[in-house]
Amino acid sequence: MQTLFVVVTSVALLLSFWVAFMAWGQPARHALWAWALALLFYGASQAVFALRDFLSFGVILVTGNTACALALVLMQVALRRFQGAESLGLRWSLPVVLVPFLTLLSLNQPRWRVLSVTLVFCYQIGVILLALLHPGQKQHGRGRYILVGAFSVLLLILSLRSAAAITGALDDQSGADTSRWLALVFLISMWVILSITLGFVYMTVERAERLNFELAMKDMLTGMANRRAITDQLLNTVARAQRQGQYLSVLMLDIDHFKHVNDGYGHQAGDMVLRGVAQILQSRLRAQDQIGRFGGEEFLVILPDTSLEGAQTLAEALRQAVEATPTQWGAHSIAVTISIGVRGGAVTGGDTADKLVGAADAALYRAKQNGRNRVEVALPQPALLAGG
Ligand code: GH3
Ligand code: MG
Ligand code: MG
Repeated sequence: MQTLFVVVTSVALLLSFWVAFMAWGQPARHALWAWALALLFYGASQAVFALRDFLSFGVILVTGNTACALALVLMQVALRRFQGAESLGLRWSLPVVLVPFLTLLSLNQPRWRVLSVTLVFCYQIGVILLALLHPGQKQHGRGRYILVGAFSVLLLILSLRSAAAITGALDDQSGADTSRWLALVFLISMWVILSITLGFVYMTVERAERLNFELAMKDMLTGMANRRAITDQLLNTVARAQRQGQYLSVLMLDIDHFKHVNDGYGHQAGDMVLRGVAQILQSRLRAQDQIGRFGGEEFLVILPDTSLEGAQTLAEALRQAVEATPTQWGAHSIAVTISIGVRGGAVTGGDTADKLVGAADAALYRAKQNGRNRVEVALPQPALLAGG
């Protein structure tokens, strides 16, 4: 038994060290710090149990059980921090007070002691499981399933233990049975501690990765795809249209005289107008269409499976919507217009994403030259003209 306690203690302390190592450099409120502390307390509780030959029975049970309760509290804290939930307040102290109290109360009644303390642990794990399973927490990724699985196993083991305490199975067992049963419990708790730590760390890694991806692919001002993302999407869409012989239209949009907005109302007002225009455009597009911020006040719209006429109609609707919807800036109502270049219709094997954008851009240039606030269509390519 002693050996098992030592093994579990060393594993918990080692994990605590590595998690703290990963949290190093993060602010103290980072979820990983709370998890490292939880592992430290869990390791401490097992260390106390390992000292059963050197300390008094009461001291071991009270400190060991309380450290376990504290470890579960800290896991709950870590999860809440990860989820961005508000802090527990004083609620954290309830199990930490209840567990030593119940342990002392039934120190010489093993059945009641095991039952009452185990029920508090079950309650703590139940709260953690509920937080993990909350429908609003879909963004945890796969790490969550590891946590749910491992905490459920822990809950099952503890429930069996309570049941054994109620039925008196614990009292009837011979010494050999008890230690075999305890050995199994320790083995499983070690698997659980390894699994939940792996799950939790993986959850934070997945979150960081997703955040990085968003930072790399999203335009922060408008929330839409940035130039890199929309260009990627165009490359894919062009390849698909070529494979399937479908139409593909592309719109290049640019806000007219945007410099006047910045000069007249300030850069912040300009940002607000940009966001407003982005919203109008997004709300008018169909589900299969894609839009991205291509430059300062330029947007690229990809219209898969859309003919030139369809693209022209949509472009005209977008132009009218922007013209009709000014942005409120304090007491001011700032109206802007957009010019749009349309490149529409079939794509051939020789068409590349660059060529489509170039054609839409050239049409946009003509829209600007012809007075702005208008839609212009890309001219047929000279090669095609020459070919008849
Ligand atoms: P036009 O396109 O009609 O020819 O005139 P314009 O005034 O819009 O011309 P231009 O494209 O040269 O100017 C774009 C301006 O957009 C210049 C730049 O300061 C401003 N701009 C670019 N990005 C941002 C941004 O993120 N926020 C704000 N407020 N302004 C931006
Ligand atoms: Mg402009
Ligand atoms: Mg521009």
